[in-house]
Amino acid sequence: MPELQLAPYAVSVSARGRKIAEPAPSARSEFQRDRDRIIHSGAFRRLEYKTQVFVNHEGDLFRTRLTHSIEVAQIGRSIARRLALNEDLVEAISLAHDLGHTPFGHAGQEELNACMKDYGGFEHNLQSLRVVDVLEERYAEFDGLNLCFETREGILKHCSQENAAQLGEVGERFLNNHRPSLEAQLANLADEIAYNNHDVDDGLRSGLVTLEQLATVRLFSEHLDEVRTSYPDLSERRVVHETVRRMIGTLVTDLIEQTELNIQTQAPQSVDDVRVAPPLVAFSEGMRELNRELKSFLRTQLYRHYRVMRMSAKSQRIISDLFHAFTDDPRLLPPQFAPTEESKRARAVADYIAGMTDRYAIREHRRIFAIEDL
Ligand code: MG
Repeated sequence: MPELQLAPYAVSVSARGRKIAEPAPSARSEFQRDRDRIIHSGAFRRLEYKTQVFVNHEGDLFRTRLTHSIEVAQIGRSIARRLALNEDLVEAISLAHDLGHTPFGHAGQEELNACMKDYGGFEHNLQSLRVVDVLEERYAEFDGLNLCFETREGILKHCSQENAAQLGEVGERFLNNHRPSLEAQLANLADEIAYNNHDVDDGLRSGLVTLEQLATVRLFSEHLDEVRTSYPDLSERRVVHETVRRMIGTLVTDLIEQTELNIQTQAPQSVDDVRVAPPLVAFSEGMRELNRELKSFLRTQLYRHYRVMRMSAKSQRIISDLFHAFTDDPRLLPPQFAPTEESKRARAVADYIAGMTDRYAIREHRRIFAIEDL
């Protein structure tokens, strides 16, 4: 089914299709099919129990990787529609972008990467691609989800030159220094808008950061002052939400305006033009600066808060213990995760660990190390 009313520089159909040819879907577009396959995957369901910043059992209201991914898709789709880009493709990339994340958020990823340093490393973007290309076992005719090229390239946000060289067509752009589609560029920045804002909200909810601290961050304080002036008697919870929604609104508007300007200036006529142009989906310089300020606040005040660090340290111990236990003795692995060849032992263990939810990893650690648990 052709996409209607898309800009000439939007992805309307998949130029390079799927690795394994399939009959066209009858009632959906190819990218709707991709989105649907992602939603039906096991890795997508596991996002519900994977940490964004706070470990799942720390509270029911914090973002998880699942709700984070849904927020990314929401922001991405709104902007895509406004810019006449392919909303379905943005949604598919957004929902899949974190499928390869380990349990315990960045702490988990760093630790698994450290464990894998002699075996090619571990990188969550690459793992997300591995999930959709190889690891999902659902379809009769192929491994993985057999997604369209444009969805796969959007999932692979970053990648080392070394890895890119081994990835075939999806790695080419890193070697040629080309850009991905505007839809992929957009999903990437929608991710950033989502996490900066929801981390502010979760940070405040957790009590690890305070409104007074955040009042030093310009992007936040400007909206906070507005809200407090307009609604002097509003409860703190609503003040926070009003402020965060206004921040998201400002970022989205800035991104749309700057991107429209960039598109006007570069005047791409096709997706191929987009690939050789500089990045076109972008914030204004002023907004980039405000964003940097907010990110650096979150890094020092929230992500490195001693209580977050304690949880990170515990998580890293769990990941490292599991990795070493399984690589030392692969007979401890459930048979479906056992390596097929000796040379694939570490990667098989990394795939098993990366697929775990937080609570599964905690339980598995107990089953392996606690004498009273089996
Ligand atoms: Mg993300």
